[in-house]
Amino acid sequence: MEQRMYAYRCTNCGKLYHPSRLVCRQCGGREFEPVPLEGEGTLVTYTRVYNLPEGFMKPWLTFGIVEFPNGVRVAGQVDKEELALGMKVKATVGIVKEGVGKDYYGFIFK
Ligand SMILES: [Zn+2]
Repeated sequence: MEQRMYAYRCTNCGKLYHPSRLVCRQCGGREFEPVPLEGEGTLVTYTRVYNLPEGFMKPWLTFGIVEFPNGVRVAGQVDKEELALGMKVKATVGIVKEGVGKDYYGFIFK
């Protein structure tokens, strides 16, 4: 099953949001269209987290904020050994947390 992540563009003024909003902060518009978030982004910041809650499959994870070329910033896992601020990472979507009867999808940057 292919999963994609989206930003939401206000059809009135064009402002992009992620996650989605009910009302545009810029113009008050209520109509949005999905815009796929994919491809390369820039690693803005990251942090390595140990002692993860139950449901995560690894002893530690790196979480980062990545900015896409369209200016949308998203949070996700970073699956790389060598990390540097400003580096280019490729956005993929995968299972970030295994739940009982439900898996959670999110960004995994590689
Ligand atoms: Zn708007």
